[in-house]
Amino acid sequence: MTTIGEKTTCCAVCGEMSTRVILGSSNTIEPPDFDTRPGEMLRSTIGHWVVECPHCGYAAPDIGERPEGVAEIVRSEEYLQKQGPFLRHAFILEQLGHFAEAGWTALHAAWLADDSGDEASARSARALAIDLWKRGKAARQNFMNNPHEEFALVTDVCRRMGAFDEALQTCRAGLQGDGIPPLIEDLLRLELTFIQNRDTSCHSLQEIPERPAGAQRVTLQ
Ligand SMILES: [Zn+2]
Repeated sequence: MTTIGEKTTCCAVCGEMSTRVILGSSNTIEPPDFDTRPGEMLRSTIGHWVVECPHCGYAAPDIGERPEGVAEIVRSEEYLQKQGPFLRHAFILEQLGHFAEAGWTALHAAWLADDSGDEASARSARALAIDLWKRGKAARQNFMNNPHEEFALVTDVCRRMGAFDEALQTCRAGLQGDGIPPLIEDLLRLELTFIQNRDTSCHSLQEIPERPAGAQRVTLQ
C-alpha cells in the first residue's frame, strides 16, 4: 500500500515553513509502461515526487536540502518563468550539470501532463527530456543501465510525442545493436508496429507476450 502522511519542512532556500505530503512505502502491482512509468500503486504517487516551496518556489524532492548554487538559480528570472515543480526542478538539475537526471524529471513532468490531458505541455516536456539526455550523453552521463535500454526509452519517448522519424531511426539503431536483451528486442519490434500505425498512445510491458522457455523466436525480418 501507498501510505501518505504530512510533514512540516523548513525551506533551505528561504527559511519559511511549509507542510508537504510525504510518501511511505508503495507496492508496484502492475507492470510499467514502455517508457518505465511505473504501474499502480506507485503510478498515482508521481505528483508528490517533487515538492515546491509555496513561499519562494524552490522545487526539489526534499526542499529541506539545498545543494550549493541552488539559491541563486531559484532566485533567477528564468527559474521563476518555469511552470510547475517538475520543470523547475529539471531546470535546477540542468543548471547544476546533472543532465541525465534533469531529463528524467522532464519525463516525469510529461507523465503528469498526460494525466491532466495537457498534450502541448506533455509534448514539450518530452522534447526537453530528449534534449537533456542528449546533452547528458555528450557529457558522458548515461540515463539508463545500458545503451539497449537507452535506445528503447528514446524510441518510446519520441513516438509518444509524435516524432515518428526520430522514433523509427532510434528503433532501427537499437535493433542493430549486438547482444540485445530479449525483452528489449521484443519491445523495439512492437515499437516498429506502433510507429508504422502513427500511434502516440501509452503502452504497457503487459502487452509483450512471454517467450516460451528455450524457444526460438519467430521474427518478421
Ligand atoms: Zn522557500
